[in-house]
Amino acid sequence: MIAMALACNPSLIIADEPTTALDVIMQDRVLAVIRDLQKKLGIAMIIITHDISVVAEVAEKIAIMYAGKMVEMGDIKKIFRKPSNPYTIGLMSAFPSIIGPKKELFSIPGAPPDLANPPKGCRFHPRCMYARDICKEVEPQLIEVENGHLSACHFAQEIFDGTMSTELEEEGLFDEDFMDEEELDDLSEEELA
Ligand code: SF4
Repeated sequence: MIAMALACNPSLIIADEPTTALDVIMQDRVLAVIRDLQKKLGIAMIIITHDISVVAEVAEKIAIMYAGKMVEMGDIKKIFRKPSNPYTIGLMSAFPSIIGPKKELFSIPGAPPDLANPPKGCRFHPRCMYARDICKEVEPQLIEVENGHLSACHFAQEIFDGTMSTELEEEGLFDEDFMDEEELDDLSEEELA
């Protein structure tokens, strides 16, 4: 499949769920091939995936979507260091850390909405632990919480600044050690070089 995609000498490849249904060994090989192609051919790639660990291995920038809306986007290291959208925090807390202590994984309550009839205001509000009245009425827009890091949440800046803690943090379910500084640095120095 990758060879077919390269046959036309593209400048951009869009890979939709490139590692879905593969075992971890094959997954690792496919990601190694993708990283290799990025380096050797200088091809731009958009990877679409539900697996946040795949993004961590191959991407420089990340855009997180919920119910058809962009909820957080920017430099991957900045977002992994300080996620500033409740949906991103939920996603990261649902993923096991290989360096942190063993802990119960978080599961975002509820189910994705019917996109033919999405919730008013913020589409995530029926499932969000931070939701306030404004969230039911007003759709949040993307705001820049730091240079190159945007989040669409009424409380994005407070979450970024740490002045609005979450139930996840209070219960110790949000894993701040999702990736440590060394791993984050390796992303740019080794895999994204
Ligand atoms: S706008 Fe409100 S409901 Fe939406 S993510 Fe932010 S706090 Fe949650």
